Amino acid sequence: MERGSDGDRVDVAVVGAGFGGMYMSHRARSLGLAVRAFDVADDVGGTWYWNRYPGARCDVESLEYSYSFDEALQREWRWTERYAAQPEILAYARHVAERFDLRRDIRLRTRVTGARWDEAAREWVVETDPGEPLRARFLVLASGPLSSTNLPGFPGLAAFEGRTFHTGRWPHEPVSFAGRRVAVIGTGSSAVQMVPVVAREAAALTVFQRTAAYCVPARNGPIDPAYEATVRADYAGFRARNREQLAGFGSTLPPPEPSALTATEDERRRAFDARWALGGFAFGRTFRDLGTDPRANELAAQYIRDRIAETVADPATARRLMPTHAILCKRLCVDSGYYETFNRPNVRLVSLHEQPIERFEAHGLVAGGEPMRFDDVVFATGFDAMTGSALKIDPVGRDGLRLSQAWREGPVNCLGLGVAGFPNLFTLVGPGSPSALTNVIVQIEQHVDWVARCIDWMRASGHATIEPTAAAQAAWVEHVNTAMAPTVFSRCDSWYVGANVPGKPRVIMALYGFPAYARRCEETAAAGYTGYEVG
Ligand code: FAD
Ligand code: NAP
Repeated sequence: MERGSDGDRVDVAVVGAGFGGMYMSHRARSLGLAVRAFDVADDVGGTWYWNRYPGARCDVESLEYSYSFDEALQREWRWTERYAAQPEILAYARHVAERFDLRRDIRLRTRVTGARWDEAAREWVVETDPGEPLRARFLVLASGPLSSTNLPGFPGLAAFEGRTFHTGRWPHEPVSFAGRRVAVIGTGSSAVQMVPVVAREAAALTVFQRTAAYCVPARNGPIDPAYEATVRADYAGFRARNREQLAGFGSTLPPPEPSALTATEDERRRAFDARWALGGFAFGRTFRDLGTDPRANELAAQYIRDRIAETVADPATARRLMPTHAILCKRLCVDSGYYETFNRPNVRLVSLHEQPIERFEAHGLVAGGEPMRFDDVVFATGFDAMTGSALKIDPVGRDGLRLSQAWREGPVNCLGLGVAGFPNLFTLVGPGSPSALTNVIVQIEQHVDWVARCIDWMRASGHATIEPTAAAQAAWVEHVNTAMAPTVFSRCDSWYVGANVPGKPRVIMALYGFPAYARRCEETAAAGYTGYEVG
């Protein structure tokens, strides 16, 4: 493979300049390849560029939610809080872009509108707006697991004359809610972070809830200097231990107890209390069987319902806030005063089961027959997750096969990295991999390293194309479905299974268990890419 020119042909084209696209660009360049990345955004950062809503922050600890690939970077960058806020993560992304001189290969404000495999030339033709088509030997979709927003089609929305916002497309100018009547629709992680902050500013805040969320306290604060020093004393070892965790993070958390069912009531309470006091995701891994045994799961769920009952003064509001689905089947929300917010006199909770939204009107909406006036409506309604951004590009592979056709009944691929019929196409943090059930930066680094090694191997062995065989792909899809069917993640209507977007095929899209997955990828590569066809 020749080093590409800087004209209309490169070795590697990358869609996205979030953490995935940036690291992919860096790795490709370090192999001596010509790379071009595109992002429709004005700047790098991906998720952390778009999601600027009040209260937006990470819920994986800062010392873990960061790149590990460069020792000097991880030693020199200093985080201020246990969980970094969005501006700090965006500043980090920008720092990485400058530090590794990534911007020269990134075209911002440029949308990839399509991509077509040219069989004769054995390269991808990537369409961009604005811009001329670019030819590339490899195409990497780093377009994000949670970057395609979901805005439900509420009747009459166009008639609403107030301001509207989506958490995932937040304005760059400061937004003031002072003195305003605000509606927030949705109660997932984004809303849970935003609601306490908006409630402190708005004249009145109404939260519209379809499914109540399980929230655990973040207990955010400045980074503990003693803890930070311990991590920094052996950062590489810390990263390696985290990669051996099922979700790729949390090696310093207390290990899970064996079973919520065999523990005595006292032991159980002590274990839950200890994790609740620690804050964050520790709670979700109090016992090993929370994700696999519905009775154990219910004990954890009831623990949180009890905390809601203790916290929320109005019994009817408390009852509405109590989730009834299995805990962990939707992402656990990490909050800073969410339940407490409903004790404020300016905050009201509306259950959409009791009062469905009938229509929007010029000055508000009507729910359950009740007209409500709003100045601002915030949609915290999430994303067309995992597949949305790739399907908007809808690459056309061999013999005119579109990705949307290949994925008509749900996404299929091999190792979550390649799709049969789409030579030299790689997807990062997509379906069929641990993706969103991990510390995503750990997943990104593993995916990018695998893709870079594969491209390097092809160059060394003189191959021009690679793609999974249909048989290997079918076996992988079967493996993911079989592994995930008994887990809690498959059990309710979440974005993990595509149920949040009407009409989307219901398929579990993430595979829990990062270490086993990473080993499987490693074995495949070490064995010369078994299950892949090379040409
Ligand atoms: P993204 O950051 O989504 O970047 C993809 C980029 O591709 C975007 O900038 C987008 O504009 C661009 N793009 C997409 N399609 C096109 C196109 N056709 N043309 C041009 N550009 C395109 N993960 C965690 O592990 N821990 C957390 O605490 C956490 N918190 C999160 C909080 C929020 C609010 C959200 C939404 C997600 C969070 N995530 C978290 C998941 C987060 O998405 C990942 O951690 C990570 O940032 C994903 O990086 P990425 O580069 O793969 O994708
Ligand atoms: P989300 O978890 O999908 O939540 C969307 C909310 O909108 C849900 O309450 C959903 O209700 C509701 N909703 C969707 N469509 C609706 C409709 N038609 N009518 C009424 N309500 C509707 O989205 P998100 O909160 O943006 O979070 C998405 C993911 O991003 C998270 O799971 C997480 O992975 C990541 N994230 C992380 C953090 C963090 O703490 N670091 C913060 C934000 C986001 P149902 O549950 O009933 O569908």
